[in-house]
Amino acid sequence: MVAIENRLESDSAVYKTLLESTRAIPWKIDWDSKQFAYIGPQIEALLGWAPSSWESVGDWASRMHPEDRDWVVDFCVAQSQAGVDHEADYRALTRDGHYVWIRDVVHVVRRPDGTVDSLIGFMFDISERKRTEQQLVSLQKEMEELSFRDGLTGVANRRRFDAVIELEWSNARRNRQPLSLLMIDIDYFKQYNDRYGHLEGDACLKHVARVLGSAATRARDLPARFGGEEFVLVLPETDQAAARKLAERCRELILAEQIPHEWSPIGPILTISVGVGSAIPGHDDELRAFIDMVDKRLYQAKQQGRNRIVAG
Ligand code: GH3
Ligand code: MG
Ligand code: MG
Repeated sequence: MVAIENRLESDSAVYKTLLESTRAIPWKIDWDSKQFAYIGPQIEALLGWAPSSWESVGDWASRMHPEDRDWVVDFCVAQSQAGVDHEADYRALTRDGHYVWIRDVVHVVRRPDGTVDSLIGFMFDISERKRTEQQLVSLQKEMEELSFRDGLTGVANRRRFDAVIELEWSNARRNRQPLSLLMIDIDYFKQYNDRYGHLEGDACLKHVARVLGSAATRARDLPARFGGEEFVLVLPETDQAAARKLAERCRELILAEQIPHEWSPIGPILTISVGVGSAIPGHDDELRAFIDMVDKRLYQAKQQGRNRIVAG
């Protein structure tokens, strides 16, 4: 008998040592009283609160980030009442006022009659994992952003333009609102590169993109690089007269920058030509045809001498 008792005692000492030397923090709550029957001493190293300060589930709930508290407490109570094992991730408050991400894994101990006797569980420090997850999320966002942005000028790229104009075309059709489009092309840009070099050409494209971006002022206006030295401005809920005005403003803003262009056959500063189109799309109207029409007007602006607007 004594031998067995000794054996049991030494076994439970082994279990205790095991429990209290793992990084996971064991705990037990008596369900009827909602009091902690036990919490591993590791809790103090992680959160700074001594094991003796964990008395009731109220202590557990109060040491939780306010944004996590309601759903975690509601969820854990509901699962426990239903007798279902569960786990929850939340931010636990440290004694010095910081938060640590915890995963709490909970086993519900039931009596033979099925009622809940107690909860036993382990808390895991998952802050490292959460940090990595958050980094991945922000990296993902950054990549999505980048894939819609022109690498040189930072404005929306052709892919983004294609997606947005498609959407705005449908919106305009549904809401019977005018949609306008400006197609903007730098005059004699080949000569600009020839005179100043390709790197200066790149800087010039950035400069032009910035100016065009500043001309579009409404939240849904979209300046984008269409390709090469061509830009577009998508102008939802904008009629022909307003679009023509904005095109004129773009032309004047670029002139006002006084970007030297010594080899331009039409004068010593950089100029743009603009095609303008406006439509309230009907059911038979094709977006493709609308874009082609604006492109033709841009071509006409070139034909008629450049540094001008053709708005039909
Ligand atoms: P136009 O007045 O008829 O528009 O003449 P243009 O010289 O501007 O037009 P063209 O289409 O003949 O030439 C466009 C030039 O734009 C040629 C090309 O090398 C240059 N280009 C296109 N993309 C870039 C770029 O990313 N960087 C630089 N530096 N140049 C570019
Ligand atoms: Mg061009
Ligand atoms: Mg050009």
